[in-house]
Amino acid sequence: MLNDIQEVLITQEQLQTKVQQLGRQISADYAGKDLLMVCILKGAVIFFADLVRHISIPVTMDFMAVSSYGDATQSSGAVMILKDLERNIAGKHVLIVEDIVDTGLTLKYLVENLAARHPLSIKICTLLDKPERRKAEVKVDYNGFTIPDAFVVGYGLDYGEAYRHLPYVCVLKPEIYN
Ligand code: 5GP
Repeated sequence: MLNDIQEVLITQEQLQTKVQQLGRQISADYAGKDLLMVCILKGAVIFFADLVRHISIPVTMDFMAVSSYGDATQSSGAVMILKDLERNIAGKHVLIVEDIVDTGLTLKYLVENLAARHPLSIKICTLLDKPERRKAEVKVDYNGFTIPDAFVVGYGLDYGEAYRHLPYVCVLKPEIYN
């Protein structure tokens, strides 16, 4: 598996430092508010699990799964809810926690879908942002790292369901993707 890696883009240490900063920032911004953090499965699961442990205010969590790339590296643009939230979000401040914003199509759909459920607010926290490939406008409120247009894996992100467990964000060798 280590032989599949071409380059580590973000190290374990860089991830931990950033997640801690984000957690502090979010805790300060939502102090005194009823915060619901929504993890978008499966890609955001590692980021989410690390991030919530740096939240120092009361918070609740819920989970949503949406379709994304399947096994390919190109977005179809079609979004499907595979698992919906379990609780009503009306009257809550919702923070969507996502792994990566690429075209923005997934988050645009999610924000519109959740906004129709009358939360008090909706904001987006993403670990990674690939602004070069944006097709839909989305307002990213918290961003860990802006990265170039490369298909990355690790720290929750997969290629064909593999590599999610890697503790860093990396690019695979071209022959793996072909
Ligand atoms: P978007 O709708 O913004 O194009 O894509 C969102 C989803 O596509 C992400 O949540 C993620 O699942 C997947 N995705 C986008 N770029 C990458 C990438 O570089 N690596 C991986 N593993 N998934 C990606």
